Amino acid sequence: MAVTLDEKLEPIFHDVLRRNPGETEFHQAVHEVLETLGPVLVKYPEFAEKKVIQRICEPERQIIFRVPWMDDKGEIQINRAFRVEFNSALGPYKGGMRFHPSVYLGIIKFLGFEQIFKNALTDLPIGGGKGGSDFDPKGRSDAEIMRFCQSLMTELYRHLGEYTDVPAGDIGVGQRELGYLFGQYKRITNRYESGVLTGKGLNWGGSRARKEATGYGTVFFAHEMLKARGDSLEGKTVVVSGSGNVAIYAIEKCQQLGAKVIACSDSGGMIVDEQGLDLDLIKRIKEVERRRISAYVEARPKARYVEDGNIWTVPCDVALPCATQNELNGKDAKTLVENGCIAVAEGANMPTTPEGIKIFQDAKIAYGPGKAANAGGVATSALEMQQNASRDFWTFDYTAKRLEEIMVNIHRNCYETADEFGAPGNYVVGANITGFLKVAQAMDALGLI
Ligand code: NDP
Repeated sequence: MAVTLDEKLEPIFHDVLRRNPGETEFHQAVHEVLETLGPVLVKYPEFAEKKVIQRICEPERQIIFRVPWMDDKGEIQINRAFRVEFNSALGPYKGGMRFHPSVYLGIIKFLGFEQIFKNALTDLPIGGGKGGSDFDPKGRSDAEIMRFCQSLMTELYRHLGEYTDVPAGDIGVGQRELGYLFGQYKRITNRYESGVLTGKGLNWGGSRARKEATGYGTVFFAHEMLKARGDSLEGKTVVVSGSGNVAIYAIEKCQQLGAKVIACSDSGGMIVDEQGLDLDLIKRIKEVERRRISAYVEARPKARYVEDGNIWTVPCDVALPCATQNELNGKDAKTLVENGCIAVAEGANMPTTPEGIKIFQDAKIAYGPGKAANAGGVATSALEMQQNASRDFWTFDYTAKRLEEIMVNIHRNCYETADEFGAPGNYVVGANITGFLKVAQAMDALGLI
């Protein structure tokens, strides 16, 4: 880890290491938060006495279960699934489900832990949780995806509820998967409980602007960081990693705000199009045809595809990591800074390694960590729950406006808190402390929980 911890926090981290062996991503996420909490314990010693940090680091409940299902050849497959209900001091557990072969308990716990603070930053009544499975959707037929989702929900449903735990999508889980999950929940419970899942389709309880929300929100955050420095996104050259839900709508909002996005990627490689990416083409390839990003160059011969290419070597003003954890390391951060990058906003969760973060901070570029910069997705999920509870369906413009206001507010709170705790311009400090205080104060008010 890049930074040493305050003497009060070091033993807490040691305990986390001891109790959660081998969960390296979870250790990384906890360390990154603890690094910033030293000054909080000076100002609020009661949180140390009451062991609030130790309690926050221990999930309220962890569920691990078997998901048996049959593939198209009639062969039985077995996956493992998780739901970590981390903290419900502010509201029902809220956080997405991830389907990816790399999923294990340590990934779900890092995501659930980050989610607690992210959700607190939105100022909406949602606790933190996360789930997923080591199921690999790549190459699976529609029918296989459906059978897997149905089997998963056959166990998971008993742990969910609009006032208990409300999942959504994440890597490998989009509207199609959420549809199969919601359908099975409805069938088992005999309840049309819209508020039990978010990211739903528009004709079955979803919210307008939810699909766009994480990507749009990340770009709003980047824009606010630049505005705080007397600059803007207009005319900037942008590079976005990934080409999934978050990446696509980050590209869209960048283009709407007058920036030129010249590169994106998937796990196979990257495309670089100096003319500016053709977003309609990307949407067709990824959302409709579900093909690899390499297909882009078939229709745009002037663009290039680089297999296994490192997207952070493409010179840009603004970098938006929107794929996965630890995709941007110290060397990449150095390359970005040397190539003149002035801002990084994370659409993905924990995409930058601790070494990378330190390089951005030392170079004094604007760096927006995921738990603040990508909070627009879960915030709009909470708006979806609000619409479900009141049986309402807001317009796109109204919902997108609410999202923008929430992101501006998150940026302002992080900025001001960083100032207040002696770290001006440090959004990691700002986000961690703002989120922590909100959760800690609620936990304190609710007695020993
Ligand atoms: P998608 O599954 O829609 O897209 C993920 C993208 O990232 C794909 O292009 C995928 O490429 C790429 N990717 C995934 N894993 C890897 C890997 N190991 N190496 C390289 N590329 C990889 O997911 P989302 O867009 O929903 O999520 C992207 C990130 O944003 C995640 O970190 C997620 O936790 C975070 N996030 C998502 C939110 C949401 O609302 N969806 C909310 C907040 C954060 P390939 O197809 O080749 O695997």
